[in-house]
Amino acid sequence: MTTPHPVPPHQVVALDLRGRTALVTGAGSGIGRSVAGRLAAAGARVVAVDRDAEPLESLADDTGAVPVVADLSDLDRAEEALEGHWDVDVLVNNAGIQHVAPLDEFPAERFAYIQTVMVEAPFRLVRRVLPHMYSAGWGRIVNISSVHGLRASPFKAAYVTAKHALEGLSKTVALEGAPHGVTANCVNPAYVRTPLVEGQIRAQAATHGIPESEVVEKIMLTSAAIKRLIEPEEVAELVAYLCTDAAGFITGTSVAIDGGWTAH
Ligand code: NAD
Repeated sequence: MTTPHPVPPHQVVALDLRGRTALVTGAGSGIGRSVAGRLAAAGARVVAVDRDAEPLESLADDTGAVPVVADLSDLDRAEEALEGHWDVDVLVNNAGIQHVAPLDEFPAERFAYIQTVMVEAPFRLVRRVLPHMYSAGWGRIVNISSVHGLRASPFKAAYVTAKHALEGLSKTVALEGAPHGVTANCVNPAYVRTPLVEGQIRAQAATHGIPESEVVEKIMLTSAAIKRLIEPEEVAELVAYLCTDAAGFITGTSVAIDGGWTAH
């Protein structure tokens, strides 16, 4: 039987970001890598940030992105590493991690670490890129949130907390940025086929006490109406659109790309 919701061909929309510079965090893998590639394909100059050097090198070879190695959990040093790269027109806060554990066993340091990487680092970057955007009278900030910025799931206390906080930051940027031509939005995917999710399949199997083979169907896709994982390129297409002139009236909102999860 053919699926009613096949993965669409990539880069179906002609988007023009020539003359723009975009900074993408977590660009070495998964969604960030696809976003960096998509923005570069639309003509943007891309500054690609990740804590790992090697994937950034191959991304640079593939797309011409400028690699910057920075660990966003060390906020001050990350800002130092990014010195000279604040004059960007587009910021995509994407870097993120997951930790799956019940609340009464959740490691406090891990909780704090996740808030640092997924809330404080986006705040630091927003703060540094806004002056250039304000003086240019144009800017696009896209925060990669999640359905977990809109809904909770058990065993993901730190991640759900961080994504809800990111939603608040994004809306505040939208309000302050509007008079300066700056938009800020969240993109909210359900489960995307990336290394982060592949790692979660193992962790969820252990936490729920079920085989790994059952995790995608029984845990990850129960809430979605469309029963497949999202491809990173589908998320990148949406992010790239939000970075265009055409998307200038979209701000302060959260665009779900979740196969109907949040329709519940
Ligand atoms: P991924 O693990 O494939 O990639 C994340 C990238 O972020 C990696 O390259 C990693 O090195 C980088 N990174 C992590 N911590 C960092 C740090 N301290 N400093 C610098 N770089 C760091 O993950 P992904 O699935 O592509 O996730 C990207 C974003 O999308 C995350 O914010 C995640 O929460 C969000 N998201 C993912 C899914 C999904 O199902 N995969 C769903 C919704 C939202």
